Amino acid sequence: MGHPFDCLVIGAGMAGAICARELAERGGKKVLVLERRDHVGGNAYDCFDQAGVLIHRYGPHIFHTNDKRVYDYLSRFTPWLSYQHQVVANIPAENGRMEMPVPFNLVSMRAAFGKEKADSLAKRLIAAYGAEKKVTILELRQNPDPEIAALADYVYEHVFVHYTMKQWGQRPEDIDPNTTARVPVFLSEDCRYFQDTYQGMPKEGYTPMFERMLDHPDITVELNVDAGERLTLADGGVLLDGEPFDGTVIYTGAADELFSCKYGRLPYRTLTFRFETHPVDYWQSHGTVNYTVDQDYTRITEFKYLTGQELPGVTTIMKEYSSAYTGAAGEIPYYSIINEDNNALYAKYKAEADRFPRFHLLGRLAEYKYYNMDAIAARALALCDDLLK
Ligand code: FAD
Ligand code: UDP
Repeated sequence: MGHPFDCLVIGAGMAGAICARELAERGGKKVLVLERRDHVGGNAYDCFDQAGVLIHRYGPHIFHTNDKRVYDYLSRFTPWLSYQHQVVANIPAENGRMEMPVPFNLVSMRAAFGKEKADSLAKRLIAAYGAEKKVTILELRQNPDPEIAALADYVYEHVFVHYTMKQWGQRPEDIDPNTTARVPVFLSEDCRYFQDTYQGMPKEGYTPMFERMLDHPDITVELNVDAGERLTLADGGVLLDGEPFDGTVIYTGAADELFSCKYGRLPYRTLTFRFETHPVDYWQSHGTVNYTVDQDYTRITEFKYLTGQELPGVTTIMKEYSSAYTGAAGEIPYYSIINEDNNALYAKYKAEADRFPRFHLLGRLAEYKYYNMDAIAARALALCDDLLK
């Protein structure tokens, strides 16, 4: 007896959900999706908490992209709420605490140094790099001009070094430079966290968007199923429930888990989220407040700002704590720790997976990369273009 499915997708996050939809709808394939959690959506999952507040269970997710294809594709499954994310750093100051925009910009500079000094610094920076330009902290620290160097030291100390130590357990100069480059110093008055053309939040939340994507007669989703219990990669090929499976397999979980971590565990950072509900309309000044100098947590997100939910008298906030992923039961690997050694270890698992010609690793975990949702969506669409040629 053959399998009733043409394709198997492991994981119902952004990568898996888009592939399932594309293979079923565009490719006319029968698709089985296995998801180990009790819900779809992967880390972008959202739900209502006991107070009725729409929360993101796995960290704050804001959609932003310059990729029109991705935006148009997702727009088939959700209307959007216009939302431009703003973040401030909350730091100790002479008389208590102060807040300034992150990424550090011309407004932050005035908050930190007062108008006169900030204006003179802005002139020097704009002469060096150009107006509206983005400069990474590592680049800025290379500048020989003593005034710019002093500014770079200030930003390094007040925005980057402590936050990065909390998030990665390493200093900014010791982690992948693309990571701090996500939040460059911005020679602008623009206080938004992202400048992408398309930004917003799915109007009814992420989960309904994923549910619609997976709602297709040729897609079967099984929740609470770990692929490890159903899928075997053996010398003879791929087995599903012990029977040979020669269809396409798209795997979006961690690559090391597929091979029982036989070359050693891929290093990741995990997060602990602490939710608090407070009897006030709003608890903090912005959607996300980064604690860049002190506190054990990295940031606090208040969901009502992100989701636009109108719910008087109650709000839920979430504190994020980062630590090394150990692989203990229940722990989730969130961030790949990208460096030469870890990439080389990943390459061993990738080579193992590549021995199976119709088996594809896709997604933030499976590719061991630091991808935003839109990048994953673009990769899923491109893989399906390729598979359905
Ligand atoms: P995931 O969402 O991780 O989905 C993988 C799915 O596979 C999971 O549901 C998992 O349970 C399942 N799975 C794994 N192994 C198995 C198995 N063996 N069997 C069955 N199922 C399995 N991106 C943005 O664009 N904007 C943001 O603001 C943003 N904020 C973020 C904040 C945090 C704290 C984090 C960690 C990430 C954030 N991202 C953001 C990135 C975003 O989460 C990812 O780009 C996106 O979720 C990747 O989708 P994915 O399908 O590759 O992976
Ligand atoms: N970062 C920092 N201070 C901040 C914001 C970011 O040091 O106030 C650094 C930190 O190393 C972080 C990286 O920049 O991991 C990327 O930040 P981003 O907000 O993009 O991280 P994410 O939302 O993906 O966790």
